[in-house]
Amino acid sequence: MHSLDQLKLSNTYSNLPEVFYSRVTPAAFAQPKLASINHQAAALLDLNLNMHTDQEIAEYFCGAKYFQNSSPVASVYAGHQFGVYVHQLGDGRALILGDIKNQQGEIWEIQLKGSGITPYSRHADGRAVLRSSIREYLCSEAMFGLGIPTTRALALVVGDEKVYREEMETAAMVTRLAPTHIRFGTFEYFHHRMEIEQVKSLADHLLTNHFQALLDTEKPYAQLFQAIVSSTATLIAQWQTVGFAHGVMNTDNMSVLGLTLDYGPFAFLDSYQSGFICNHSDYNGRYAFNKQPAIGLWNLNALAHGFSSLVEKDNLISALKSYEDTFLNTFETRMAEKLGFSVQNNGDSALLLELLTLMEQNQVDYTLFFRQLSYFKRKDKNTELRDLFINRDAFDHWADKYQQRLDIEQSKEPQRQEKMLHSNPKFVLRNYIAEEIISAAKENQNFKPLNDFLAVLHSPFEEHPDFEHYAGIPPEWSKEIAISCSS
Ligand code: AMP
Ligand code: MG
Repeated sequence: MHSLDQLKLSNTYSNLPEVFYSRVTPAAFAQPKLASINHQAAALLDLNLNMHTDQEIAEYFCGAKYFQNSSPVASVYAGHQFGVYVHQLGDGRALILGDIKNQQGEIWEIQLKGSGITPYSRHADGRAVLRSSIREYLCSEAMFGLGIPTTRALALVVGDEKVYREEMETAAMVTRLAPTHIRFGTFEYFHHRMEIEQVKSLADHLLTNHFQALLDTEKPYAQLFQAIVSSTATLIAQWQTVGFAHGVMNTDNMSVLGLTLDYGPFAFLDSYQSGFICNHSDYNGRYAFNKQPAIGLWNLNALAHGFSSLVEKDNLISALKSYEDTFLNTFETRMAEKLGFSVQNNGDSALLLELLTLMEQNQVDYTLFFRQLSYFKRKDKNTELRDLFINRDAFDHWADKYQQRLDIEQSKEPQRQEKMLHSNPKFVLRNYIAEEIISAAKENQNFKPLNDFLAVLHSPFEEHPDFEHYAGIPPEWSKEIAISCSS
């Protein structure tokens, strides 16, 4: 275990050729204040923070103090934004501080987000506001709690600096962790500039540091692309099962490790609405909830172009063709768990489709329904569940079929219930909850609600009696919340 001053970083990313990044000095906050530190994520870095004051921690995670051997860089990338290719993007407000290999041999790259202008900031200010930083901080950990691959959040630091969006707002920085933050757009950048040597450097970098098992295979680059297809399909399938809408699935926001990356105007569904658009700037609904699986494939197709100098066309196509099966496998397995099915049965897809149609027609809350379904009893009216539906007869009709389906299962009711309670979270980061936590932080500099709810999100399948009020139907005002890209 290390203290902050003992933590010695490596610079794995900046071992890449210099065209991959620019060296940038973080613009630290003058008066940083620690809003939250995530001890679970600190453990990934073998950090022991006990001997540090909050003030010291805040100084490290706003760029005021440097880790040993840290050499901050902003990475360059490109990407398809809402379907249109943008030839140069890059970390406009994030910096890679370096990385460490922990005691388990895992590489964790440390990134500061909101640390000031970089050569890729275009006309923006390089800052992040407290509101969006809280959302990223909490949702990263919510995803982790749900068992879905994601970048992790380590620290949230608030500054006195003011940032102008639609109004004056407070600046904040999130420190996030991932083995690497490399995006689809990193490949696209070099491919479209026809810098084929650099595409190869990038693929080699990934193979050496993050996909070592593929190095000895016959076609490592083809395998690498295949691995990205599989992890992306698995990721998006998992989003669909928890009702998560990412909101901005541009290729620059897609991780080559299949992690949920760049939390912006995301939302967890409240009432089930298949075409839900969480991003109010997404006028055409390109990234609507039910479009996500197809967009994942679209994005992989863009990445396939990026790989085309390394991998034969046939291999790229066969990898892309595997997307649907991988997606469906994960989706169907997870949904079967949510429904309490442990044996496969032919009619399951139809039963699920009927349920989702019914939920949509009746505006049934997605998270609440499945949590409540865990308590389903045979030969019972299941009143609490039934009352979630406007059309109770339609529910009864479905419940009859569900009951018959459960009869095929070997497991006893208590066992099924126990399993279902671990597949159906009680708590997700609903937008209105995030809004309440943000209000407390903005209005009174009160970060207790944030820190308390962080612990809940780390174990969302467990009971948290003090947070029962966040486990029910969201209040009416939550329907009015509009989240845009501005962050
Ligand atoms: P996003 O939609 O947040 O993933 O960002 C898209 C691009 O805009 C990325 O290259 C970001 O680094 C950049 N960007 C977003 N907000 C800012 C900001 N406030 N300052 C500088 N660059 C930004
Ligand atoms: Mg982004």
